[in-house]
Formats: sequence, C-alpha cells, structure tokens
Amino acid sequence: MLLRVGKQWGDTYSKTAIYKQDVLPTLVVAPKWVCLILLIYSLSAISAQGQKVDISLFHSEKPQTFMFTSMSGEYEIRSEGKAIESIIKNEIIHLSIDKDKINVRAIGTDFGNFSHVEIVGLSRVSSFRVKLITPSLESRSYEGNLILTVELGHLKIINHVALESYIAGVVETEGGPSSPLEFYKSQALICRTYALGHINRHENEGFQLCDGVHCQAYHGMSMNNHDVEIATEATVGLVIVDQNGKLITAAFHSNCGGETENSENVWTIPLPYLKSIEEDYCKQGPHSKWESSIKIADWKKYLKKNGFQNIDALSSDDYSYKQDGRQFYYVLKGDSMRLKKIRADWKFKSTYFWIIPVDDVLFFKGIGYGHGVGLCQEGAMEMARQGYTYQQIIDHYYKNTKIVKYQ
Ligand SMILES: [Zn+2]
Ligand SMILES: [Zn+2]
Repeated sequence: MLLRVGKQWGDTYSKTAIYKQDVLPTLVVAPKWVCLILLIYSLSAISAQGQKVDISLFHSEKPQTFMFTSMSGEYEIRSEGKAIESIIKNEIIHLSIDKDKINVRAIGTDFGNFSHVEIVGLSRVSSFRVKLITPSLESRSYEGNLILTVELGHLKIINHVALESYIAGVVETEGGPSSPLEFYKSQALICRTYALGHINRHENEGFQLCDGVHCQAYHGMSMNNHDVEIATEATVGLVIVDQNGKLITAAFHSNCGGETENSENVWTIPLPYLKSIEEDYCKQGPHSKWESSIKIADWKKYLKKNGFQNIDALSSDDYSYKQDGRQFYYVLKGDSMRLKKIRADWKFKSTYFWIIPVDDVLFFKGIGYGHGVGLCQEGAMEMARQGYTYQQIIDHYYKNTKIVKYQ
C-alpha cells in the first residue's frame, strides 16, 4: 500500500490518502506511458534510506560567521554552479555575512562575496565540522553538503544529507549518549516516523525540517556512540503506522512517572494509540521525581489572577492536593484550571504532582518529566536493559500500531 506513495513520501499521509483515492483508480485505464512514468516515480522512492533531506542548521541561532573544516573526503565550494575552490582534509574555510552576500575566505586568500554558496562533497562519504563563531557555539560534525544563502541579516545554512544519517544524528541528540541498543532502535523508529510525517513542515522556507526542538533536535552526525549507528542501520526505513497504515504521531517524553497520558489531555486530539498506560519501568529513572516550593501568598495571587474566587478564607491545610492517577484539572473550592497551564506557568517538570502545605509554604512533590504522552524514554531504556526488543517496546507504548517498511 505504501509503495504507491511515490515521490509523495514527504507528504503527510492525509495528502497521500487523497493521492491514493484520486489517482489510483485512473491507473486501471491509463495508457502504458503513464504507467511507466508512475512506475519510475514509485521506484525512485522505494528506498527511503537513499533519500536526502534538507535540514536548516542553527535555525534559532541566526548565524553570522562560521568555520568549515573537511573531516573526511574532498569538498568543493561552488556558487551559481561554478567552482570557487577545492577543500582538502583539515583545511579551514571561513564564511561570514557581508551585507547581503556571503564572504568566503581561507588563510591568506579572499575568494570574494557571493549570494549563494554550496559546499559539495566529492567523495562517496564526506563529513565536515562546523564551528559557529558568531554567535559562539561548540563545533558540530555533519555529513552531506551545505547550501548557504543570506536571509534577513543572517546566514541560512542548509544541510543536504542522507535521511538515515540525519536520523542517526537525531537519535543521538534525543536519545542521549549511552543508552541500550534496543532503546536506540525504538528511538530510531520514532525519529524516522516523525521526520517522514512532518517532512513538509518548512516547505515554504526552502527546507524540510529545522534542527531545533520545533522539529527534532539534530546536532549533527552520531559521534559518541557506535550503537546509535548500529540501531539506525538495523531499523533502516522502518516506521510506525496505525491501523489504517497512517504514520503515527510518535510522541515521547523523558519519564511518565508510572502512568502515561492520553493525547487529548495535552493536545485536545484523541488518538487510539496514544492512550494512558501504567508501568513500573521508569519508577527508578533519574527523572522520576521532582520538587518545588511556592509561598502560599504567591500561589494565592496566581490563582486569583486565573479566576479563583473562593480562596480568601482558606487555611494553609486547605491547599493540600493529591492526584490519584493523572488529572486534567487542578480543582480548589469549586474553581479549576488546566494542570497543563500550571506546569507551563511555573516551569514544572510535569503536571503530575501533589501539594503539601507547611506553614506559609507549599511543597510541590512531582513525578515524571515531560508531557507524559506516548513513549516514556526512561521506561523504554529500562525495558531494553531487561531484555525486551524494540518491537516489544513500541508495542508497549503505542497500542494497536504496526512496524512497516516505509516505501
Ligand atoms: Zn522546525
Ligand atoms: Zn514511564
């Protein structure tokens, strides 16, 4: 079924559904040449792993100046299709914004200013290091090519990279540096499912995904842990779909505190595979508990600002609050507000907390970290340590889903 998607692989599945309904019936009577074009069209997308993606790097940093160093393979700097310079291993190229152009320099040579610059790998596998100077950031390493333009006073840096190399980078950034292999495999499926499901998110801006948490955090190629690469390769092209074959919204979070959350309680849309489950796997995780404290006077002021009317005469003990299972609303003397809003306003790690009053202070005892929907990372890590496979981990957190090859 998914084979029919053709170059629409990057579309959301809702568009794919339209494609399938509208186009497939006409195939029955289509002339041979149309079938041939459609066959080529489909074959071009059969291997998702061969697919390239365009990722906006340092998307929220508004870069002005950076250094490029080739780590492996030879690179060539081009502008408007013309070669400017070849870059050999360890050679440093300095790129900076100069009014509305990009200035390209090497030690002792100024190559000039250009409106569009490409840094293209000439070897089968090419990798490079980027050191952002303004603003200053740690070096990051990438595979693939770079495409540079100037936009609104900063450099727009796009990494044209193999999808699976991007996935490995995201798995390392999102999954942490030293997690178990089966956990990395489940994280690879989630990151791939998310990337393919949101591939047109920045379509109007000239790239597909950004490297921030808005899409998925991507800080370059996997460097620190060989298991990340093994996990990505072992699951190459695999994605998670629902009962209708649609890519799932593969939500995940750090620690659920022993009970995951229904999707409708966080994003209003109920999804059959993002349903609350109870588990013990994460209960000893590093983010299983949190604490905070707020003065009663401040809490009172906050509640009043949010429409609470019956709290003037309350004693300290009246602020005592317990959640038996995850709740949606915080309720006090007939008034209520969304726990989600409280979490955002006070920067709590989760909505899953109790309140214990002591004199004029409220102690917040919380469990879990994150929105609680979908896969609980610390629970999944523990499952992997206990010998569960990535298929069992996916099945535990995303009910009634299937793992399929994305084609
Ligand atoms: Zn984004
Ligand atoms: Zn959990």
